[in-house]
Amino acid sequence: MNSCHSVPLPEVGLSGFDTGLSEEEQSVQDAMHRFARDVMRPLGREIDRLPAEQAYQPGSPFWQYHAEFQKLGFSPEAMSGLEPSQAARLEGIVVEEMAWGDAGLTVSSGAGAMPMTMARASGQQELIDLCEGKLGCWCATQPDRGSDGLILYPEERHPGSRGNKGNLQAVFKGDEIIFNGQTSAWVSNGAVAEVALMDIVADYGDGFFDEQGNTFGCNVIVPLDLKGVSRGKPLEKLGKRSLPQGEIYFDNVRVPRRFAVATRDDYELKHAYAWAQAGTAMSHIAAGLARAAFELALVYVHERKQGGALLATHQLTQYRLGGLGMKVEAIRAMARHVAHYTKCSPRPHPYFTASGKAFCCNELMDVVNESLQLFGGAGLTHEFPIEKLMRDARAMQIEDGENNILQMHYGHLLSRLHLQEGWGRG
Ligand SMILES: Cc1cc2nc3c(=O)[nH]c(=O)nc-3n(C[C@H](O)[C@H](O)[C@H](O)COP(=O)(O)OP(=O)(O)OC[C@H]3O[C@@H](n4cnc5c(N)ncnc54)[C@H](O)[C@@H]3O)c2cc1C
Repeated sequence: MNSCHSVPLPEVGLSGFDTGLSEEEQSVQDAMHRFARDVMRPLGREIDRLPAEQAYQPGSPFWQYHAEFQKLGFSPEAMSGLEPSQAARLEGIVVEEMAWGDAGLTVSSGAGAMPMTMARASGQQELIDLCEGKLGCWCATQPDRGSDGLILYPEERHPGSRGNKGNLQAVFKGDEIIFNGQTSAWVSNGAVAEVALMDIVADYGDGFFDEQGNTFGCNVIVPLDLKGVSRGKPLEKLGKRSLPQGEIYFDNVRVPRRFAVATRDDYELKHAYAWAQAGTAMSHIAAGLARAAFELALVYVHERKQGGALLATHQLTQYRLGGLGMKVEAIRAMARHVAHYTKCSPRPHPYFTASGKAFCCNELMDVVNESLQLFGGAGLTHEFPIEKLMRDARAMQIEDGENNILQMHYGHLLSRLHLQEGWGRG
């Protein structure tokens, strides 16, 4: 019976049962963890308590965060020399650590980089210069076009219905693109962004729809200091309050046609690419946030006494901790799996990436909920940060695609693979 005492404890790192990190990965993880702990957590908590109208003013903790993030010198170029599989791993390590610090600020940096990512992919120096040093945003949803913007195949729409052209469109006319309408209030960084990646419906001279009723689309980089651009108020909301969100209005805003990075023929593929990138980031964010909640609960049960002993010593608590730990590991494994497939497959697909986002965020919700439950009533108070994590996790059930919709798209993809490729027939 004594022999089990001689079995040494397993080696665990910052991110749990994670072995085989290279020296470089380890040092990146350590550096990002310090940044998440010393900069992101305190600033994120400060912003969370401020009214939205104050939270993103010049000099606010929100802009302090971005100034500190800039100092890290982290850019897409840092990843450009890496093999896709190495880049996928490293990105996962970085994003998970950041989200452990603050999920809202992590999204602010991620969405903030989207125009630059697309500008770089286009190879157009003018667009790269235009995005340099600016906080970006991704304008895809509108008041009347939420989940509808994520439909890739016509048969997913109600029979007989056409695509949804929403409340914001681009019209391509001669050498110009003209924008009219408004985004949803949910555009991340929308209230403060300096440049936008537009991901919207377009008219190239023959209307917004093709013969099957599908909309044409475009991706365009648009500076947000142009005449005709105005903003709504920053949104007051339940969670991810460190992430400014708000409407952007476009009144005859004109940019040169060369600012387009995807048009009629290559739009679908580039839209799918951008959406899949966002989906992998969301999966890693779920891993970091779930870990943060689990760790808070782990500490608390080693401090709180009930039933004559520390909570941690009761078998029921150990069972519950085991359940939490398993889920955290599963979320990370799934996040890394979808990230690897999305970066390395010759034909990735955003519906598969979306399945990872939906899985990771659903499991995240369970982890945060059960972690808070381990605090009892104390978990509901502002005294412990677990209540903030609960609110942040709640937003992630809807962000970047509502989870049920994403799961439905994944099911549709599986069915298509079966019917068209024979997949699953043995
Ligand atoms: C934190 C956060 C960050 C975000 N960041 C951005 C951003 O940077 N840029 C951007 O453009 N947008 C952003 N969004 C918007 C986000 O993509 C949308 O909120 C999301 O796609 C859902 O759209 P919706 O809110 O309009 O809900 P709706 O589409 O109106 O859905 C409402 C409900 O109806 C259900 N439903 C919808 N369609 C169907 C259907 N066909 N059949 C059956 N049920 C259906 C859904 O499952 C859901 O439960 C963000 C949202 C959040 C919460």
